[in-house]
Amino acid sequence: MEKLDENTLESWLDNVREYAFDGHVADYIPALSKQNPEKLAVSIYYLDGECVYAGDHQECFTLQSISKVISLALALIDNGEEYVFQRVGMEPSGDPFHSIYRLEQHRPSKPLNPMINAGALAVTNMIRGQNADEKVGRLLSFMHEMTDDRTININEAVAESEFQSAYLNRSLLYYLRQHDVIKGNIEETLDVYTKQCSIDVNVCQLSRIGALFANEGRDLHSNRQIIPKHFARICKTFMVTCGMYDASGAFAIKVGIPAKSGVSGGVMASLNHFGGISVYGPSLDKKGNSVVGLKLLEILSNRYDLSIF
Ligand code: GLN
Repeated sequence: MEKLDENTLESWLDNVREYAFDGHVADYIPALSKQNPEKLAVSIYYLDGECVYAGDHQECFTLQSISKVISLALALIDNGEEYVFQRVGMEPSGDPFHSIYRLEQHRPSKPLNPMINAGALAVTNMIRGQNADEKVGRLLSFMHEMTDDRTININEAVAESEFQSAYLNRSLLYYLRQHDVIKGNIEETLDVYTKQCSIDVNVCQLSRIGALFANEGRDLHSNRQIIPKHFARICKTFMVTCGMYDASGAFAIKVGIPAKSGVSGGVMASLNHFGGISVYGPSLDKKGNSVVGLKLLEILSNRYDLSIF
């Protein structure tokens, strides 16, 4: 397919802009409620290293659940596949991302997958490091390596806001600790998790990470293997089966591209032989996915026949 240029991307944005009024910004993390619902940006990072973008492309937003893919890749590198999947399952849940009730249905207890909060908290708990600072530092260095951009940092205000209000994630952690799914100190794991969710990116940085996954874990510019190919594949498969929470099935039918969303309104998509696509639009639907992001990806996928199916 021909490459999209910035004018074409800009016109696609204009076509979907109005959908922002169909949703609401997340407010269960108080700091996120300050986002402007009308912000909108898209970026495509092609496998040859070219990045095109349109809209509010300099606007930073926090990774939120998109970070679950990144922490999974790092936990796999740190511990290997067997260790990780002894503690977290591989099946979609069909439940909202913060649901607790399926933890009770399995003995021994095991979160269904790494993309729901219970599973993601368990994955964060597996990241190596002596303390929270070292673990967060390793996550940040991993982000810097993947993007070749050392300016990426944590939005401390969002991290603090989530840390103070994360009653449900604390409950999940206590439950997981009781059942030996996680080890160590609960507040420390929550600290790492809220900071990983609060890593600030713009659409270009995010689409480069999507492209790295599409490029089987190799950096597009140096060709260095940053994530082993097999682990990159595991991450992309989870993006297909669980990446859009309990809307993953409909998304697979309508869009058909491995993708992960976050409640800040970001979406990172990764398409083999094509590159990475990222969208930012903070107005969310009831399931916590960016309304405009979903619409834009649907239009692009249909127009350019991008579905992997
Ligand atoms: N930090 C958020 C939480 O755990 C991430 C959730 C999301 O993006 N779906 O609640």
